[in-house]
Amino acid sequence: MSKGKQLYELQEVDLEIDAKRERLTQVMGRLGESEVLDEAHLSLARDEEKLVELQRIQREVEREVEDLQAKAAVATDKLYGGTVKNPKELSSLQEQLSNFRRKIGEGDDKTLDIMSEVEAAQKEVFVKRSEVAKIEEEWQAEQASLSQEQTELSAALSTLEQKRKELASKLDTVSLELYEDIRQKRQGRAVAKLERGMCQGCRIALPMSELQRARMGQELVQCGSCERVLYVS
Ligand SMILES: [Zn+2]
Repeated sequence: MSKGKQLYELQEVDLEIDAKRERLTQVMGRLGESEVLDEAHLSLARDEEKLVELQRIQREVEREVEDLQAKAAVATDKLYGGTVKNPKELSSLQEQLSNFRRKIGEGDDKTLDIMSEVEAAQKEVFVKRSEVAKIEEEWQAEQASLSQEQTELSAALSTLEQKRKELASKLDTVSLELYEDIRQKRQGRAVAKLERGMCQGCRIALPMSELQRARMGQELVQCGSCERVLYVS
């Protein structure tokens, strides 16, 4: 096997290792990451708090109305009970009563308003709870699949790294150093196929003498333009 072909095979393995490592980094980054879920929980908690506060206000308004009704009942009894005879006192009681009734009317309006706010807030909480449950379910499924993928990637990587070690052990240090050097400069691709007289790394046609040297396969021939090692398949 020519050195070019050996290096090409090494590169195939290295590219696979690079891709799998990149994916593994992404997977690890997303494992345990729960920003969307946390936000959904927070938003639900805020809505629930708002509902509790509205319910508290509703009870307060209702208590105020009950209190006014009790006061109005007392004033009514006094006014029509026949115990109070003084016209001035009666007129003052009348005034108090109409005052209470006006306030009760206002309180009833307030109660109706707050009740519809409570209802809307309850609906919102109900909808959000089911949304959060759905997000949580999706999140758990995603985490399980990421965890599975992490296991698979780690296993695949250790197999590939073993394979790489074996391939590299058959190559001499000088070739390997050249390979690593070009790989760093050329986005991980140090070896290019030579097809129809052209380097497939940079699409430049090679001079005839270089073509012949590359085809012989006895020495490493580099592309004069991109420096990649050429491999004739
Ligand atoms: Zn080239």
